[in-house]
Formats: sequence, structure tokens, C-alpha cells
Amino acid sequence: MNSPGVDPKELARIEAYFASPEFVTDDGDDDVFETALAADEAFKAWSEQNLAEHRAPGYAIATISLKSIGAVPGDATSEQMRMIADMAETFGHDEIRISHEQNVVLPHVRKRDLPAVFAWLQTVGLATANVGLISDIIACPGMDYCALATARSIPIAQDIARHFSDSAYAKTIGEMKIKISGCINACGHHHVAHIGILGLDRRGVESYQITLGGDHTETLAIGLGLGFRRKKLCRLFSA
Ligand code: SF4
Repeated sequence: MNSPGVDPKELARIEAYFASPEFVTDDGDDDVFETALAADEAFKAWSEQNLAEHRAPGYAIATISLKSIGAVPGDATSEQMRMIADMAETFGHDEIRISHEQNVVLPHVRKRDLPAVFAWLQTVGLATANVGLISDIIACPGMDYCALATARSIPIAQDIARHFSDSAYAKTIGEMKIKISGCINACGHHHVAHIGILGLDRRGVESYQITLGGDHTETLAIGLGLGFRRKKLCRLFSA
């Protein structure tokens, strides 16, 4: 594909860095995956929520949620990071991608290896099956870590995730993007979330503006907002 104004040779040079790995042709051993789905409810739930279709037969795209309920969104311990690196080396053609949703993606995993991937994830507390659900919240560091913040982001995300910890209920709600920014710099992209939360300082009181109806996809939409003090915000989500 030629892009206007871009030297095709330069494009080819860059493309070479993103060459696909050589995928193994299906050798008929994919019933390992199907058998595990039938035998293990937790693996089935994780597969339904955290896997995406891959263009190569017998492969899947696996998203590792860094949103275990009540944890700091997007955080991983050194032990978890080592495990993810080992998994990428063992099962994922040495590739890891970090999504803007603050999760980790293994882009090329053979389906037959997914039960093992899931078992490894369980040992380090990374097997949460909530990708795309209401507890898969994007939160900026907010006042806990950022000198520019006017309100906290992380505790709000933790409270909401805990409130919707029932996975059956979260699935009933369906896909839901909550994004939280701790100030008007909007690093959490709250303005394009289904529910956006913007932290503000109103006369020394942590306050939040909620925006509704944003959309970060190609049909881009900016959410419309209402302001709340922190206590009222917590009551709103627990109503
Ligand atoms: S939105 Fe504000 S508080 Fe959050 S990371 Fe960006 S600058 Fe910091």
C-alpha cells in the first residue's frame, strides 16, 4: 500500500520490523482447547471474555487483564511481569503488546496452549475475566501519583470495580468503557468513554464531572457532563 508523501522504500523498511511470525499449520491437536473449555468453567469464562479471533487458524489473541477487582488499574508486580515475559517466550512468539486500555496482549497464541497460559496466569493473580466489562476501567494516576492532579482517580476506579465484582452482573451490563482522569489534561481520555469521570477541585473539595455517551471508536463522540462531589459520586454508583 502506498501512502501519499511517504517514500515506499522507507515504508517497506519499517514494515519489515512488524513482520508476522511463521504460524504453525493446524496439526489437528486443537481439541485440547475444546476439551478444556468443556471441563473448566473458569477457563471458559476467561476465554469468552479475554480472547479475540486471530487471522491464522488454530491461534487466538489473548488479553491479560491488569484489572483484578480492587487492584490499581494497569499495575503489575515484578513477579507478574516476569511471568508475562516467560509466557510470551514460551507460548507467544516472544511478542507482548500494551493496550491503551492498560492491559497486556499476547497477540499470537496457539489455542492448544491457552489452557496452559490460563493456568500460568492463575498462579500470579492475572486470570481475571473482565476485558471490556465495567470493571476494566482506565484510570490515570490521579492525585495519588501525579503532581498535576486536582482529584484522585485510582480509588474511584477501585470502588467501582468492587461494586461490580459480580461477573454475571457485569456480563448482563455488557461492554462498558469507564475512563477516569484526575485533571483537565484528560490523560484517561474520559471525554470519549461511555462513562467518563473527570476529577476537579471545587473550592478545595475533590469533585468529579461525569460525562455520558462518549465513544472512542471511529464513530467518535464526546460525552456530555454533570458535576458531583466525591461522596455523591460514590453514592451514585452504589445506587
Ligand atoms: S489527567 Fe491529570 S492527573 Fe491524570 S495523569 Fe494526566 S496530568 Fe496527571
